[in-house]
Amino acid sequence: MTTRVETATNGGPARPHGGRLVERWLDPDEREAAERLPALRLTPAEAADLRAIATGAYSPLEGFMGRAAHEACADAMHTDDGTLWPIPVCLGLPDAVELRGGMLALREAEGRLAGVLEVTEVFERDREREAKLVYGTDDPAHPGVARVLGSPARAVAGPVLAVMGPAGGPAGSYALTPAQTRAAFAERGWGRIAAFQTRNPVHRAHEYLLKCALEVCDGLLLHPLVGPTKEGDVPVEVRLRAYEAVLSYFPAERVVLAALVAPMRYAGPREAVLHALVRKNHGCTHFIVGRDHAGVGAYYGTYEAQELIASLPPDELGITPLLFDNAFFCRTCGAMATAKTCPHPRDAHVSLSGTQVRAMLVAGELPPPEFSRPEVAAVLTEAYQDGAAGRNGKALT
Ligand SMILES: [Zn+2]
Repeated sequence: MTTRVETATNGGPARPHGGRLVERWLDPDEREAAERLPALRLTPAEAADLRAIATGAYSPLEGFMGRAAHEACADAMHTDDGTLWPIPVCLGLPDAVELRGGMLALREAEGRLAGVLEVTEVFERDREREAKLVYGTDDPAHPGVARVLGSPARAVAGPVLAVMGPAGGPAGSYALTPAQTRAAFAERGWGRIAAFQTRNPVHRAHEYLLKCALEVCDGLLLHPLVGPTKEGDVPVEVRLRAYEAVLSYFPAERVVLAALVAPMRYAGPREAVLHALVRKNHGCTHFIVGRDHAGVGAYYGTYEAQELIASLPPDELGITPLLFDNAFFCRTCGAMATAKTCPHPRDAHVSLSGTQVRAMLVAGELPPPEFSRPEVAAVLTEAYQDGAAGRNGKALT
């Protein structure tokens, strides 16, 4: 039983991008016929994109992009019909796949039917150009660029219908569709809803941003991305335990924790825009953008994502960005702060590098409570001791 929040403000939930929440599910009666179609095996990232299209997370997209949309999107951050859309969503067509007629079965890596695509176009995808325009680099060391450059030269476009069941794995029960998050917000009576995208554990700095956002909103959607990420990111099951731990510091009736199944692209500024649109489709009215949003390595400036999102016409974006400076605990202030709110020198701030934190976790030590809540640190330390981190890379921060 959820308590309705008395102070709900008007406004939300947000209208879906493009005006209509897309849902693309295959009629169960048509599955048998779909099983007999020529098949294309999806990569994990493509399967996650298919799910995002089918659930409406990518509204108004109804399928994978053709050449005109691909080029318009890469060149000018809009689809060919003029809708703001920052990153192409394409489906690679391996040479071995033979097209007969107009329909393709889409299969997950293990072979299970994931959906069907009505082929409208096959085109040569200029991957180098896409990489430079969307990611700002064609360096194959960039994980998002590597995925683009590693895709087949041909792409197949068209509307899709999916048959995917509930998301599997440890995040399955958290993977709410946009319709489900909207229903959750309505049940709670929230009008202003702030969304937070993350692929990392939530330490004190991010908790502070979440609480600042919650001070001016009715509710918070803590919305970790759980699709394919890069080697070295923290395993999903560990992250979910860490999120549950930090949520003991929030009123339960003010937060929804849900997982977003979508591939991480590490496209920095452009991905910040995509992340905002996806949260708008989930019904959120506000979107938190911190430092180096969706960045990787040193490819993007610290506040480049904030600059891009702030430059977009508000009516076109349709969700209010909440732009935050880097946060830290200041010993002199005796509180969490940012450069905007604290005048003290750096040596008054508790700051630890990722490398320092990892060294502490490996040694079984907890980072200071000013950096990480003891409950969160305990989850991460335990995962390190169990070797859960080792399975998926080295980083736990
Ligand atoms: Zn201070």
